[in-house]
Amino acid sequence: MELKSCPVCGCKPLLLSDDEVMCINGLCPVHALVTKKMNWNKRADVIGRDSQIRKEIELEHSLKNNMNKIRLRFPEITD
Ligand SMILES: [Zn+2]
Repeated sequence: MELKSCPVCGCKPLLLSDDEVMCINGLCPVHALVTKKMNWNKRADVIGRDSQIRKEIELEHSLKNNMNKIRLRFPEITD
């Protein structure tokens, strides 16, 4: 399964095992949070599809609220 870029910061993820992945950007709010590969890709997919949340994330230059927005919008795919 190909890994998508971090849905919060766009950074390349680090593959930890066959099933686990994390963001390696030290400034990213999901940095070091181990995520299931499937959830990671699903999250990246919905962020890519939802132009409103994508716009909000791009407009906000600080990353700190981005993960909260994603969690509020897509509670079913957060760990
Ligand atoms: Zn990130």
